[in-house]
Amino acid sequence: MKASVAGYARAQSLDHAFNLLHSALGEAVVIAGGQSLVASLNLRLSEEALLVDIRHLPELRGIGVRDGFLRLGALTRHVELASDPLVGEHVPLLAQAAPLIAHAAIRSRGTLGGSLANADPAAELPACMIALGAEILVRSAQGERRIPAHSFFEGLFTTALEESEIIIAVDVPLKAAGDQHVIQELTRRSGDYAIVGLAGVKSVNGVRLAYFGVSDKPVLAAGAMDILNSGGSIDDAVAALRGDLDPESDPHASAEYRRHLAAVLMRRVMVDLTNS
Ligand SMILES: Cc1cc2nc3c(=O)[nH]c(=O)nc-3n(C[C@H](O)[C@H](O)[C@H](O)COP(=O)(O)OP(=O)(O)OC[C@H]3O[C@@H](n4cnc5c(N)ncnc54)[C@H](O)[C@@H]3O)c2cc1C
Repeated sequence: MKASVAGYARAQSLDHAFNLLHSALGEAVVIAGGQSLVASLNLRLSEEALLVDIRHLPELRGIGVRDGFLRLGALTRHVELASDPLVGEHVPLLAQAAPLIAHAAIRSRGTLGGSLANADPAAELPACMIALGAEILVRSAQGERRIPAHSFFEGLFTTALEESEIIIAVDVPLKAAGDQHVIQELTRRSGDYAIVGLAGVKSVNGVRLAYFGVSDKPVLAAGAMDILNSGGSIDDAVAALRGDLDPESDPHASAEYRRHLAAVLMRRVMVDLTNS
């Protein structure tokens, strides 16, 4: 099936992109890598009057250290997350996560901003950003705001982004000496979306564990984290997952199977976080 799109415009600057979005009166969306949007247009899951192409905007590119954060431009592609030396040094969780995303062709076009805006509950990067305590920088013609990752994802393919806003960059706290980063997931085949996945960060403040594939959005396992961070056992933390996670059954896995996998991943990730 062919996509249903009435128009296409290549933004020449961020202001131009805001003007294009504004003039289309809610009937336009930005396109970055196109890896999720084009599929959904082809399947007629969405229909747009105008695609605003932001791929060529230099303001959305670049990876650099500033003010205690690694700033990642929204157009950072998954393949860059996997290979950039600054990412490997300062946020190894993202370097570990990127190769788990889809296949090489998708990773060479798909972008960080696109993945976060798309908010697929089984995607790796949204959960990583919650585990890392990252902040998402978004801008519109009215100005800029920073949204903590834990309040950015609101539900199935739904975020705190307003229609007129574009993700500019993400600020991720730098890994300190002694911190550990681990991501693990269980998939049917390599490159598939995870049935269940877990991103974990251990720092002087304790552990942060963010699950993906278990709900309509990534979930911080708050009860299990409380137990682990107050010296409790992994068995008790696994038991607390009953209260933290409320997965649903779907054609890929039953809710009970997802609960089982979540417990398996908790044990594996905690071994890696404490031994690595
Ligand atoms: C077969 C297949 C398998 C996949 N498997 C996985 C997987 O295992 N894990 C995973 O995480 N992902 C997976 N993906 C999705 C892939 O990672 C996409 O690249 C990503 O989700 C979207 O990035 P994009 O740049 O292509 O965004 P696009 O497709 O261009 O856009 C996606 C959405 O984000 C919006 N958007 C894009 N950029 C911005 C921005 N800067 N500001 C505001 N809104 C923006 C668009 O308007 C659109 O609504 C898969 C995709 C395919 C086709």
